[in-house]
Formats: sequence, structure tokens, C-alpha cells
Amino acid sequence: MSFYPISQKIGIIGGGQLGKMMILEAKKLGCYVTILDPTKDCPASSICDNHIVANFSDKEAIISLANQCDVLTYEFEHIDYQSLMELEERGHKVYPSPSCLKTIQNKFTQKTILKENNICVPDFCLVNSIEEIKNVAKEFSYPLVLKSCTGGYDGKGNFIIKCEEDIEKGFLTLNPNFNMSLMVEKFVDFKLEVSVLACGGINKDIKVYPVGNNIHIDNILHKTIVPADINESSKQKAIDIAHKIIDIFNGVGMFCVEFFITKDGEVLVNEIAPRPHNSGHYTIEGCVTSQFENHIRAILSLPLGSTNLLNPTVMINLLGEEGYKGDTLVEGVIEALNIENVFVHIYGKKQTVPKRKMGHITCSMECLEQAEKNATKAYQYIKFISK
Ligand code: ADP
Repeated sequence: MSFYPISQKIGIIGGGQLGKMMILEAKKLGCYVTILDPTKDCPASSICDNHIVANFSDKEAIISLANQCDVLTYEFEHIDYQSLMELEERGHKVYPSPSCLKTIQNKFTQKTILKENNICVPDFCLVNSIEEIKNVAKEFSYPLVLKSCTGGYDGKGNFIIKCEEDIEKGFLTLNPNFNMSLMVEKFVDFKLEVSVLACGGINKDIKVYPVGNNIHIDNILHKTIVPADINESSKQKAIDIAHKIIDIFNGVGMFCVEFFITKDGEVLVNEIAPRPHNSGHYTIEGCVTSQFENHIRAILSLPLGSTNLLNPTVMINLLGEEGYKGDTLVEGVIEALNIENVFVHIYGKKQTVPKRKMGHITCSMECLEQAEKNATKAYQYIKFISK
């Protein structure tokens, strides 16, 4: 029998909703959690044991976090990987590894590694000037997707180029100071967007979750439906690729792989996130072990839990209502919770802003259509407005 060290100390860079949901699981396993986040009343601050209030770029603060913890992780990928590499060199545990973070946080290096490993991705190319984009357009044809290689999220950092006249505008929009590296991708006329969550654990154990269909509105995830309505062959391809990606990156912890499925059943990777992901929130009520619990288990070198789906599940994001900005007020929670099998998650953000992610709803039921109906009904009740 082995002894389990109580009060293992976990440090999380980022105290948003993902950090908060990691803490909920870490506390179940008896851990002590310190977060680093510049916002005093960020979502995770209400339940962490200790909060270092500092900017993500504050090297000294990150070192102090590492010195106070047995293991470090992060809830978003736009972090200075160099600082994390230095910590790793000094013997600190950081998961997922800083070298994998370095590759993944740059969309060009990420796609290059995938291509080298024979994983299908949309055709892509690094571009340094307006002239170079014009030349790529001759090969890829329009529309093109111009992307910042680093720093993008929720579609910010992308520009769709529909014709030659859009090139200059796209280039100057994404690169106003001429200091960003940009890439161009062939536009994929996809039928569906899906994602697969996967977790790397000790002894090279890999656990993969079911495929979820993601529906975006204005580039922000709106709804995830699990299982995704795609054929078995595409499903298996996506699951195999997610498995292979954990292998390629020697992944420890949760990873999310987002895919495009074309009408011909082609499965192309759009991007990877080395962390729990919004499209994996359904796993909290929908699966035997949530993405957050498996992430915590992985970084503590504990055995991973089953990723089996308990029931078909639908997750819908709750965003700040248009026209409201200020101290948060929530409407309709009681009405939503009166609906069968509906769970409401409120992140506890003190300030609402239009389109800010404020919470989510999950509904898990034997019948997927009913789960979607119930989740949609609950979604219509809840509104994040301001006083
Ligand atoms: P972010 O990192 O900001 O989430 P993504 O690169 O994932 O940005 O792109 C956001 C959305 O833009 C995707 O979910 C998809 O709908 C669309 N998109 C991205 N790349 C392509 C592409 N090559 N072809 C078609 N649509 C794309």
C-alpha cells in the first residue's frame, strides 16, 4: 500500500473559471491551492487557499508561486514559456511541460509539428508581408484565413480575406506595428466543428473523452453537444488523433484538440490547447471523471479516471448580455434549476461585460434531443445583466 501525501501544494497560473473548476477537484483530493492572477476578486479567488495578486508577466511572482508549491499548472496558454522552462530546469514540476507549451502557443510551430507527424491540418504558410500573402493566395485561392501566430483567442487574431482588396486591411489589422508573426491558412469549408479532450497521465497512460460537436456564435463557443452526430469513421479518426497528440507532446494533463469535419468526412486539426477547455465542461456532469479531476490527477501523478460518457449531454455557455456593463446581476437561475437534469454553473465574475463568459448550463439525459431542449429552455431563462 502506498501513502498519499495530504495537502499537496498546487500552483495555478490564472484564476478564471477554469482555475476555479480545477480547484473544486483539487480540494476533493485534499490539496492546498495557490493561484496567481492580477485580479483580486477573480473567480478562483473565492475558493483558493492562497492568492498571489500579480501580473502574469511578473517573473518574480511566478518564481514565488513555484517556491510555494509542489507542482505548477496553468489555465491559459498565453504565458511566458521561458520563465516556466527556467523553473523546470531548477527542478520544479510544471505540467503540461513548458516545451510543449512553447510549441503549442505558436499556431505555426504547432501546425508544423502536427504536419511532420502526418496529422492532417488545413494548408498553411508563414507570411511576412502583403506581397507574400498575395503570392500564397495564388496557390490557396480565396477565401483565406490570416492568423496571428500567437496570442489569439475566441477568433481575435484571425482575419478572413475574401479577395485581394482585403489583404492590406487584414495585414494592418493584425499587425499594426509590424511586430507580429502571421500565417495564412486555406479556408476549410467544414460541415462541423468538433473537439476531443484527452488526458496524459503517469506511465504514459492516455485517456480520451467522447467527441463533442461545437457550435460557435461570433467565434465564441455557444454550445457543445455530446456525442457528436458524425459517422463512426470520422469519430474514430478524431479520437485516434487526440491520442496520438498526447503521445507526440509527451502530454501530462488535459489537452483539447479542435477539429474541422468536412462533408467528405475529412478530419483536420484546427488547434490544440494544453489545458482543460470550455468544450470539455460537459464532462463535469456528463462523464464518470471530469476533465478537471483528470487534470489534477495527472499533474499529481495519480491514476486517471474513466472518461466514459454517462448520458448524452449538452453544454451551453452563458455570456454577459448585450447592453449591460457593470456590477453583475443574474436573472432566471431558479427557473432554470426547475428544469429536469439542468445544472447551472456561475463563475462569480463581479463585473459583467457583453459577451464575457459568465457561466454555463449542462443537461445530461438518456435522450439527447430532450437534453438539448431542456438546456435551451434553461438558457433562455438566464440573463447576466448589471445593476
Ligand atoms: P482562436 O485561437 O481564436 O480560437 P481559431 O484559429 O480556433 O482561433 O479560429 C476561430 C474560429 O475561426 C474557428 O472555430 C473556426 O470557426 C474559424 N476558422 C479558423 N481557421 C479556419 C480555417 N482554416 N478555415 C475555416 N474556418 C476557420
